[in-house]
Formats: sequence, C-alpha cells, structure tokens
Amino acid sequence: MPSIPSYLTPLLALFASHGEAAYPVGGCVRDTLMGIPPHDWDVAVTTHPHDTMALCHDAGYRTVPTGLKHGTVTVLVPLSGDATDRDGPYEMIECTTCRTEGGYTDGRHPDTVAFTGLIEDDLSRRDFTVNAMALTVNAMALTRTEESLTVLDLFGGQEDLKSGIIRAVGDPDTRFTEDALRLMRGVRFAVKLGFAIEENTYAAICRRAEGLARISRERISEEFQKILTSPEPERGIQLLSDTGLLPYVLPRGISPMGTGDLSSLPADFTVRMACLLWEMDYDGVEENLAGLRLPNAVRKNILAITCSYIRTLRPDALCARRWRHGLGENTLPALAVRAARGDTAAVELAELVKASIESNEPVYISDLDIDGKDLIALGFKPGRLLQDILRDLLEAVWENPEKNTREVLIKEALRWKD
Ligand code: ATP
Ligand code: MG
Repeated sequence: MPSIPSYLTPLLALFASHGEAAYPVGGCVRDTLMGIPPHDWDVAVTTHPHDTMALCHDAGYRTVPTGLKHGTVTVLVPLSGDATDRDGPYEMIECTTCRTEGGYTDGRHPDTVAFTGLIEDDLSRRDFTVNAMALTVNAMALTRTEESLTVLDLFGGQEDLKSGIIRAVGDPDTRFTEDALRLMRGVRFAVKLGFAIEENTYAAICRRAEGLARISRERISEEFQKILTSPEPERGIQLLSDTGLLPYVLPRGISPMGTGDLSSLPADFTVRMACLLWEMDYDGVEENLAGLRLPNAVRKNILAITCSYIRTLRPDALCARRWRHGLGENTLPALAVRAARGDTAAVELAELVKASIESNEPVYISDLDIDGKDLIALGFKPGRLLQDILRDLLEAVWENPEKNTREVLIKEALRWKD
C-alpha cells in the first residue's frame, strides 16, 4: 500500500473539507509504487487557480502564484503539518488545476488549456501510463490518523509498472505529434527506470522522430543530459540512435569507436559526454557541444578531456606530473574516461596523480621556487629566453621534485649563461 508524507495530509484534507479534491499525481505516484522516495510531490486539484490560492491562503498557508496561466499555485507546506507554522522547515508543493490541453499546432505547446477540474482529464493529457496515475485519499479517513489511499489508474499504469513498460497514454502517434519532447522523455524514462518501450509506442517514436526538430535546443539538451547520466547510458544512446532521434541531439554523431564503457563512469555529464565523443575530430566535438547550449566551463572541460586521447600515457610519476600540468582539474576525470575506453594503465596513472596531488608536488611554473624576477636579477633579459629557461627548470623539477629549491634552480639557470 503506498503512503504519502504526513505533512501533506492536512493540505489534502483541506480540499476535501470544502467539497473539492487534491490528488498526488504523476512522478511521485510512480516512484512511490516502485518503492523509490519521490524527490517532489505534485498535486492535482479540482479548484480553479484563484480559488486554490484563496483556499490555501485562508487556511494559513503561504502561496506563490508560480504559473496561474497553466493552473499552478505553489503552496509552502510546513513539515510540522501546521499550516500557520512560519518558523519550521517546509516543502514547496505545486498544486495544479486539473486540465485538458488542446490544439498543438506548433508540436510543442498546447494552444489552449481548459481547467475542467476533472482528474480523468488531467490523467489523459499525461505522457506515459506509468506517469498518469493519481492517489485518491479517502476524505473520511483523512480526519482519522490512518489514511486510506487508492490508486486512480485509468490506463493500466500499475500493470506497466510491474512489467517494466513505457507505453504512451492513448494513440502514440497523436501524442508525439502534440509534443515532440515526449519522444525523448520516452527514452529517458526507459533508461531511468530500466524499462522497455512498448512496441507501438516505439514504432511511433521512430515514425515521428523528425518532430524533434521543432523542440528548443535547451529542452533537448536537458533530456539528453538525463539520459546520459541515467543508470543505462549505453542503452540510452542505442535507443536514440535506433529510433532516429540522435541526429537531432548530436548532429555529428558519437565517437567512431562507439560509446565506451559509459556506465563504469560516475553519473556525471562532463565525463560521460567526453567519453562519448572520445577520439572524434575537434570540429565534430565542437559542433555537437554547441548544439547542447552548455555553460562555457562545462563545454571547455569536455573539450579538454576529449582531446586528451593523444597524450602519451605511462604509469610513472613523471607522467603523472605532466598530465597534471596539461589537464589541471581535468586530470582525474580524463584518466577515468581513458580507463572507460579500455586503457588499464590509466587506472595506475590515476593513483600516481592522486599521490602527486596529495604531496603537493610542483607541476606549474608558478610552483617553482624561483620566478622571472629572480632570473632578471641574475642578469637575464626579459623575453622569450626567460620563458624557455623557466620551462627548462620546470622540466628538471618534473624529473626530480627535490630540485625545487632556490639554490639548485639558480645553479641550473646559470648554465644558460654560457
Ligand atoms: P522526474 O522524477 O524525472 O521529475 P516526473 O515524472 O516527475 O519525473 P516531470 O518532467 O517532472 O517528470 O513531469 C511531471 C509529470 O507531468 C509527469 O509524470 C507526467 O505525468 C507529466 N508531464 C510532464 N511533461 C509532460 C509532457 N511533455 N507531456 C505530457 N505529460 C507530461
Ligand atoms: Mg518531477
């Protein structure tokens, strides 16, 4: 039997006591039925948005009109269960009026939404059966301590949850034509939950793939990042490729060597993406990344890691220092990617890099116990030669970190005088 958090009960009871209803709905129902704690609780309500605000406000809750046009009011629900509690911690609960959506002329958004207040309508507009369930709470039971919950499941979501199936609600072609982002959401939920995509739904994804061209790069990127950081990134990429969605996500495709062992890497977008694009030509990597509208820092890190495939790799201390110098904070991520690409020496080198970081070894010119000013004081002229000397001293210190003392470095530098 599913259960809901105790702080939510007074909110649901409030609606019931006014002859209205509030239903936990969507992802939180799916997760609860799977025994996974939901990261947030969404609630569908029968009241119109302004009435939702008034009802909650009058009961003492703080409310925020986050999306009245779409029917959404965010209610700050104190964990203590006391609506008037202003001091304790609270959860932000989105309460959205039950609605239907109509006319998707742009293949992205509904032209109209109608607040019908019927939970049946609200469940019908949702994407997949496992996402289209609500919990109904027995109003009588709410006044007692124990709740009595039943699952409102109009499309066989519980059955699909048991069998591990992603199935569109209603006619899949229609649903993917209405909103093409659902094409990627289908793949995302399949790899997030470890589910198969039902045959007709899968065939419709293949047929409608080009609809993705109408979806904004940002929304595509967001879904793709979730797919790549899921527990099954390789299958995610395979699904995107087999269904014909991949060209709309990564116009230049993936590494010529395949995906690599993505799931051996942490669920981190930067390292997994670098692994996916490993050994691709620079232009291809750049074009793929540009299409994903990533923050500049993320883009640069992925590029740096992806390009590190050309570096020599030997599991020794000198190589560890060279890698640290060349890759900075990307060193360990780059070695993890290299290992996921089958280079076992990368695992050994990573240990040496960790030891090098731990003991604070000098790896940059700025780590030297001497600088340009010291060299000028020794009679060297500022310019190219000075840079070469510092670089030479750094090489010497990489070979042997014990040389990093003023005395030794001055002696080495003076050899350039002749
Ligand atoms: P997650 O745990 O990843 O947040 P979720 O199921 O909560 O999963 P959301 O994207 O937060 O996913 O959406 C919440 C719910 O809203 C979904 O479960 C689904 O019922 C509905 N939904 C969201 N986006 C769409 C869409 N594009 N088309 C139809 N229904 C959608
Ligand atoms: Mg969610």
